Amino acid sequence: MSETYSATDLPDTDQLYRFAFGSGHVRGVAVSVDNSWQTAGEHHDYPPAVAQLLGQCVAAALVMVATLKFDGRLILQFRGEGPISLLVVQARSDLTYRVTAQWGDELQVNELDQSIQALLGHGVLALTIEPTEGVRYQSLVPIEGDRIAEALEGYFRQSEQLPTRLELAADDQHSVGLLIQQIPGEGGTPMVHQAAASDEFAHLSILMGTLDTQAGRLELHTTPVPVLLHRLFHQEDLGFSDIRPIDFYCGCSRGGVSQMLHSLGRTELEAALRDSEVPAHVSVRCEFCGHRYNFDAVDVEQILLDTSVKAPDSTRH
Ligand SMILES: [Zn+2]
Repeated sequence: MSETYSATDLPDTDQLYRFAFGSGHVRGVAVSVDNSWQTAGEHHDYPPAVAQLLGQCVAAALVMVATLKFDGRLILQFRGEGPISLLVVQARSDLTYRVTAQWGDELQVNELDQSIQALLGHGVLALTIEPTEGVRYQSLVPIEGDRIAEALEGYFRQSEQLPTRLELAADDQHSVGLLIQQIPGEGGTPMVHQAAASDEFAHLSILMGTLDTQAGRLELHTTPVPVLLHRLFHQEDLGFSDIRPIDFYCGCSRGGVSQMLHSLGRTELEAALRDSEVPAHVSVRCEFCGHRYNFDAVDVEQILLDTSVKAPDSTRH
């Protein structure tokens, strides 16, 4: 692990950086999400208040997927009864992701930095882990705190019991996340090591705490991640273990939509043909990427007759 690195030599857009500190007690993940986030928002026209929160969720989901050693996808979901009712990010272990959100007319669209309690109301944070092979796991916790980062720190405290610090900042162009986490001790780790790990985590948390103000979050949002890491941790023995690109990828397909339609059955599809906004077609718009799939009466008949279509698997898309 190297003590020196040149912040200016590292790529700084649509990248995820994994790093660890020399002692091996604390690891970190940072992301800068840029062009991919603009692509994700292209078809949605997110109000600024939604873009701010959803962008933070993107950064959070990506740093979280990188802390897990698994192949599959992580779904981060905030559900509430406030002006914003849904924020969803699906992040895959290959660092591709897609997003969707729902909000109502009562949302004060241009008022930024509002509390998530005000925006989401009494809500639930759902975190789902879907390994490509193996058992799906979901955890539900009440939404705590005023910011997405606080709610997720609460999740880590309750569900994973790993000391974790997270900072997030986003607008509709650019999203940044920074996480540090105490590495889980092996069973039987000597007490003295545990104490050293806790001390080091506390020390690094204080350094990261300089971001926990309005000015700090502005600094987080406007500073290239490698420069920011250097600024925060230049006196620490920080070494990068992994730097990988991030991208937007929906993964929806005409075949996948056909499967979903098949499961609806004849009555519903015939009604959809009659009432469609695209005349004489069943028209389905992907809620993630905005792509529209149109099926005419002949297509619909084929979908209904196609016995090879399996019932859609709710865990795949
Ligand atoms: Zn799509």
